[in-house]
Amino acid sequence: MRNVVILGSGCAGNTAAIYAARANLEPLVVEGLEVGGQLSLTTEVENFPGFPEGILGPELVENMKKQAKRFGAEYRTGEVTKVDLSKRPFTLWMDQETIEAQTLIVATGASARWLGLDSEKKLIGHGVSSCATCDGFFFRGKPVTVVGGGDSAMEEGTFLTKFASEVTIVHRRDEFRASKIMLDRARKNEKIKWVTGAAVDEVYDVSKNEVTGLSLRDIKSGRKWDHKTDALFLAIGHIPNTKIFQGQLELDEQGYIISKGGAKTNVEGVFHAGDVQDRVYRQAVTAAGMGCMAAIEAERFLEAQGH
Ligand code: NAP
Repeated sequence: MRNVVILGSGCAGNTAAIYAARANLEPLVVEGLEVGGQLSLTTEVENFPGFPEGILGPELVENMKKQAKRFGAEYRTGEVTKVDLSKRPFTLWMDQETIEAQTLIVATGASARWLGLDSEKKLIGHGVSSCATCDGFFFRGKPVTVVGGGDSAMEEGTFLTKFASEVTIVHRRDEFRASKIMLDRARKNEKIKWVTGAAVDEVYDVSKNEVTGLSLRDIKSGRKWDHKTDALFLAIGHIPNTKIFQGQLELDEQGYIISKGGAKTNVEGVFHAGDVQDRVYRQAVTAAGMGCMAAIEAERFLEAQGH
């Protein structure tokens, strides 16, 4: 029987673990499939307070984990595949094992979104990627393409210019969702070319098992053309990891947890933290803040229950 189980090992989960561990709750963190969350897929983080020179995302998240372990948090590799939140203690299924938890902190984050093309799916790992940090290196001296118009697209596009001969950013609208500073930085980069108002219809060439180009379409006119590229990086947002909570936690139409104030969900004793609920701010520092809130609420909840 656990006092607190935390699902997810990103900024939110690790911060919740630091707080819960320092409150002597001996939390268990189930790391999930994307260990370290979104920060582990990023490069330089320049806006996390306390690091005037910036810090690498993977290093930041690893530091948080070390900090939580120092106070007694336990980490387990793997994934919870089923939950029963209908009564307390809650039951969680992990591999063949079940875990009982008095409180649960859901910090399962949100995973990369794909375009949904058959050819895209077949070429994942063969030139199609959702992680420039992981795969950019393989395309040294080659032309690559990024799809998206948000901060991720700007960040990944700019990062990829370190390796690629040329980076084309393809975006479906003429206006960008990205913040001004990141858009300006990308615009100043001469290696970045822009295609706006266009969609990707197909990724070539499945028969060769590598990316050789894209079929692009002008959304207004319908005109189609081929664009030569050696890689396709998707930066089109994320999908919340809430499948196992469907029918138990209140979710919005896109699957994000609906907050009941602070870190509360509709189920007493279940708290949310980070991108799994936050579709607005989605920053490392806000996720960390919410991890802190969730741990404090779990602690108070347990106290009120007489633990
Ligand atoms: P986002 O802001 O939601 O942007 C997603 C982009 O992908 C949008 O431009 C969207 O187009 C496009 N898109 C979505 N679905 C698409 C589809 N099916 N086909 C083609 N295009 C599609 O996501 P994000 O860029 O990943 O950023 C998420 C959050 O993280 C934001 O709050 C951002 O500020 C933050 N972030 C911050 C940093 C940083 O500060 N260093 C870095 C990365 C991300 P539309 O615009 O037309 O909807």
